[in-house]
Parts: sequence; C-alpha cells; structure tokens
Amino acid sequence: MTTISEQNSTATALLPLAGKKGLITGVANDKSIAFAVAKAIRALGGEIALTYQNDKTAKYTQPLAEAIGAKLFLKLDVTEEGSLEAAIKQCGDEFGEIDFAIHSMAFCNGDDLHGRVIDTTEAGFDSAMNISCHSFLRMAKAVEPLMAHGGSLITMSYLGAERVVRNYGVMGIIKAALESAVRYMAYDLGPKGIRVFAVSPGPIMTRAASGIAHFDKLLESDADKAPLGRTVTIDEVGALTAFLCTSGSSGMTGQTIFVDAGAHIVA
Ligand code: NAD
Repeated sequence: MTTISEQNSTATALLPLAGKKGLITGVANDKSIAFAVAKAIRALGGEIALTYQNDKTAKYTQPLAEAIGAKLFLKLDVTEEGSLEAAIKQCGDEFGEIDFAIHSMAFCNGDDLHGRVIDTTEAGFDSAMNISCHSFLRMAKAVEPLMAHGGSLITMSYLGAERVVRNYGVMGIIKAALESAVRYMAYDLGPKGIRVFAVSPGPIMTRAASGIAHFDKLLESDADKAPLGRTVTIDEVGALTAFLCTSGSSGMTGQTIFVDAGAHIVA
C-alpha cells in the first residue's frame, strides 16, 4: 500500500510543469501580473526563482515569495549593470538548466507617458525602451545557455502596440517594438527549441497601470466592449502564461496572444 506522501509525490509528478524550473521577474506586490503567473506555474508543479527590483519592494515581495515556495528570491534592477546577468547566473547555479523565463517589467517616466508622443524626450524614450523592451533581449541572451533543451520566454505586451489607445502614448511604440522583438527572437531561437511569446492582457489595475491617466475609464470602456462583458483578472493572465510554459503549447512560437475577454476584436 502506498503512503499519503508517496501518493502526493506521484500526483505532483503528473503535473504539466513537474520538474520544470524558471525565472519570474516583475513582482511588485500581490496585484502584479507576475505574481499571478508565479502562482499558476507553482500550481502546475514548476519550481521558480522570483526577482524583486529593490529593497523597498522586497518588503512586500519576500512574504509572497515565501508563501508560494519560491526556491530563490533575487534582486534584479535591469538599469543596474550586470544585475540581470547576475540573477540569471544564480538561477543557473541553483537549477542547472531552466525551462522558462518570464519578463513582466515596464517603466516610463510620467512626463514622457502623458502628452503627445512627439514630445517624448530622448532620455525618457531610451529609458522606457531599455527597461521595457531591450531587457527582454538581454534576458534571452543570458538564459540561452541555460536552455540547452529548449524553453519558453514570455513577455507582457498590450493592445496599444497595434492600435492607438488614449493615454498610452509612447508605451504603445515601445510595446510595438517588444512584439516585433518576440517575432525575431522566435525566429533566431526556434532552432534551439526556445519558444518566445508576448501575452497581451486587457487593462488590469496594478501599480504600473495606476501611472496611466484615466485608467478607470479604460477599464470601464474595455468591459463595455468586450464580448465577455468584463475585464480580465491577473489569474487569467497567469493561467495563459503558465500554459505557454507547458508542452501543451509546443507547436506555438512568435505570437502575441490576447487575454482580454475578447475586447481587441471589437472596433
Ligand atoms: P506591476 O507594477 O505590478 O509590475 C511592473 C513591474 O516592473 C514591477 O514589479 C517593477 O518592479 C518592474 N520594473 C520596473 N522597472 C524595473 C527595473 N528597472 N528593473 C526591474 N524591474 C523593474 O504592474 P503589471 O501591470 O503587473 O505590469 C507587468 C507587465 O504587464 C508590464 O510589462 C506591463 O506593461 C504589462 N501589462 C500590464 C497591463 C495592465 O493593465 N496592468 C496590461 C497589459 C500589459
């Protein structure tokens, strides 16, 4: 007769991400999309390293990392030279190979975000592009040697990449670059079995979203036009993202996948 603990470990071994390991960036608090991704990946049996941006956010994120059983809790500020590479090296030291890396980070100065895109400063554009887009390329480069047997690289985009969304301004341009990067990265890394995706959630009230002017109106109008008659939750984004880390999505790469209650199909 098998013991309960043997039965539990057999059940865990059957989960789609059992034995899979990876890195999840961008948890600022329990409302963060990345936190829901982390929960969904853990629920499917994956092991995770979670990153925090600075000591201020660690206060909120360390208890979250402990609550979901993250194996590593690492500092990562992509504007600090070597920070990204150091965090990924620590993942390699702990896990050996890794199977997924989630990029859920974005930043734009308020002054550059509000107003006309042609008024964006060069420094503001560079900073937003570096943190929100180029860091995904750098992340891919650093994890590539750890993905000897393939893996999934996933970033977060938004509809403002392909259509004008009021008050999204220069971030729309940067998300467009990010979605294009996903296609080129998928092409470059496909031969190694590394699959690359952008997940495009509808609007959700998070810390980053609170920097967008009249975000409450965007939430209302999106819910109004969405076929499902509502906006989405971070858990729905988490579930899709976790699926993209499983072998269930093995035939897919290079796409931007909406999780927005269908809002993007309605004019
Ligand atoms: P959030 O504020 O919870 O997460 C943003 C994260 O970016 C934070 O954890 C922050 O620490 C991190 N970050 C910013 N600058 C960084 C830096 N220099 N180094 C390391 N990390 C840094 O907000 P969120 O809504 O969960 O955002 C996650 C992603 O989802 C972003 O790419 C955002 O554009 C995207 N997204 C959000 C929505 C939405 O409506 N909330 C919709 C579509 C896409």
